[in-house]
Amino acid sequence: MQEVRLKARAKINLTLDVTGKQANGYHTVRMIMQTIALYDGVYIKRIDKPIIRLKSNLDWLPTDEKNLAYKGACLMRDTFAIQEGIFIELDKKIPVAAGLAGGSADCAAVLVGINKLFRLGLSKKKLMELGIQLGADIPYCILQGTAVAEGIGEKLTPIAEGCPFCYVLLAKPNISVSTASVYQGLHLEEIKEHPDTEKMLFEMKQKNIQAMGGLLCNVLETVTIPRHSEIALLKQKMTALGAKGALMSGSGPTVFGLFTDKAKAMEAEQIIKKTFGLRDVFVTRIWNKTQQKRRGFYHDRLQI
Ligand code: ATP
Repeated sequence: MQEVRLKARAKINLTLDVTGKQANGYHTVRMIMQTIALYDGVYIKRIDKPIIRLKSNLDWLPTDEKNLAYKGACLMRDTFAIQEGIFIELDKKIPVAAGLAGGSADCAAVLVGINKLFRLGLSKKKLMELGIQLGADIPYCILQGTAVAEGIGEKLTPIAEGCPFCYVLLAKPNISVSTASVYQGLHLEEIKEHPDTEKMLFEMKQKNIQAMGGLLCNVLETVTIPRHSEIALLKQKMTALGAKGALMSGSGPTVFGLFTDKAKAMEAEQIIKKTFGLRDVFVTRIWNKTQQKRRGFYHDRLQI
């Protein structure tokens, strides 16, 4: 095998709770992670020259060891003594630093891709163990689907039936938030509303998207919304335009809304683009492997 092409899919958080802080400064979390269909294209090729070379469609994105995809390739080369060179091309479609785990998804795809390309025969579990060295979200990005994440995000419980199919409207405000500063600004003892993870899992099992919409909850909004009121305005607008619920994903600033009606989601996309003057507004959908098979989405070239 000379080359592989993969899809590095983004995630949203249907719930995000911070449960404590470890001695090393890392916060412990409990959250429901969900893969969405929006992806970065990842192309990996063997090359003769024994170097790792990364290219991307965003000229400002680092292409050296600051890039998680590059780091992933170095980890695989060094761990498995790969002698040949590796060329990686990223076609970034997931907004960067958006709370959608784009970098982690690229890194996860590189680990999976190099395993395939060099026929290393590593299990998903082994790849996940390797991935955690490079970031807390990487094991989840290898697993994909619906999962409860605990610890620092690496202790994963997959939810077999998972989140029911629906449309997801994403809108990234034109602001940048640093994940570290969001966690630093968090006052755990002052948080009044925590997500009800069990209830969310129950309603998910019932495929009750309406009820799920009401249970969306992310404690990190207590830090980001007072700093950036646009996040709250986007949530209100999405709900007014027919979303069953809306929430900030991860440490933000992207807001997502869950829609059961595709036409409403697409109309909301246009209205939000105009009203808020945003570029990064997309309609995508929940992605779960079982739903893919059932719906025959394998050959669907659209991201929605
Ligand atoms: P998370 O939800 O895990 O916090 P995020 O979606 O907020 O992730 P990313 O898009 O992963 O954030 O990018 C965060 C930072 O990582 C950016 O500042 C970016 O420069 C850097 N980065 C490194 N590698 C990548 C990559 N392959 N794609 C995007 N960003 C990357």
